[in-house]
Amino acid sequence: MFVLAAIVFIVTLLSTPTSLVHGAGTSPYLKDMFIGRCWQYETLQANNHVLTEKVNCRELWTAFYKSFAFKDPCEMDKDSYENFFNMFKNKNKITNALFWSGAGELVHDFTFINDDYIVLEDTLTGNLLNGLTWCGSNTTADGLNYKDCESSGDICNAMYPAWFQASANFALRASGEATVLLNASRSRNRSAYYSKSFFRSVEMPRLKVDQLNVLVATNANARERCGTQSLIELDMDAKMKNMRTTCVDQPKLVLRVFCLKFPKASQCAPVSFLPQDSTRESEETILWRTICFILIAVAAFLLLIIGIYIIRKYFITKNSNFKYLHNWSFSKKPMLSNDDELTDNNNINVYRFEAR
Ligand code: NAD
Repeated sequence: MFVLAAIVFIVTLLSTPTSLVHGAGTSPYLKDMFIGRCWQYETLQANNHVLTEKVNCRELWTAFYKSFAFKDPCEMDKDSYENFFNMFKNKNKITNALFWSGAGELVHDFTFINDDYIVLEDTLTGNLLNGLTWCGSNTTADGLNYKDCESSGDICNAMYPAWFQASANFALRASGEATVLLNASRSRNRSAYYSKSFFRSVEMPRLKVDQLNVLVATNANARERCGTQSLIELDMDAKMKNMRTTCVDQPKLVLRVFCLKFPKASQCAPVSFLPQDSTRESEETILWRTICFILIAVAAFLLLIIGIYIIRKYFITKNSNFKYLHNWSFSKKPMLSNDDELTDNNNINVYRFEAR
């Protein structure tokens, strides 16, 4: 049975047209996906003034296609996509931008659930290009290379100039407060604030915000923490640009999203969710503790006042009632005889009182 299933699987794989296998070449159906994504975006973001873009999706595709089709990737330069990027008009500032590096999957899982931030992939450019591969060829009929768009870094890479410009534009739109999610256990021993990353080489130099919040996610093998190694360099770069900074190691909000997806990961043990010190989250904890302390103090004070009131009311009133009853009982005494008057001074007084 197992052998039969294996044979069927291998035959199916071999008979699949190579253009349908998603490899390192241009993504199949690139044009359809591009235009479909564009129409979907135009419809869904029509009323969102920060994200909306009024574009003609077919014209946008043509401008994009002409930037790299029929070209050897090594011919491309940073201006290759100029006409394409000139079609984006929305320059509205983004006051809750979220950058990332080495944490693409995590950041998108997070922003899928949490609406507090805007990532490049929420803008039309990022949305159109995210997850796609493309490069040109001067030997194919449609000018696209479906076999191999591989390159080392930014050299002979048709996608690099597009992502460069998209990242630069996104960074220029950020204002107020921005956040970056970094990975302290990146593959290939790369640092969290990696020198060749788009975040460090393209976005950070263009960023002008008042405050940069750094979130440092990691697996069990964290190589860096806030205030160490490359995160010191990030802090210095930010301070040089007059940005205030905060830094949180393993932010719980992000960790919770990660743990929804990978509940058995070692960093998802219950101990990971115990309170942590310093930084913004613990500042919030301190704030809440202070508020609770004040509320308890006010409640205790009110209880004290009420207690004193009750004691005064019952005890003091009881005592005065007692005196009154005592006198009353005297007043109800039978009339004294003359002999009595001679033997008891108190009773004589009472008698006098009653006589008045
Ligand atoms: P990263 O290292 O995780 O890289 C993100 C993507 O860019 C990966 O696909 C990576 O292969 C590619 N890449 C990174 N450096 C490259 C280089 N020098 N040459 C060619 N390709 C490269 O993180 P990063 O580099 O800091 O990029 C993420 C940041 O830049 C984010 O803040 C985002 O706004 C923007 N960005 C997003 C994408 C995306 O795929 N959605 C791509 C590039 C840039």
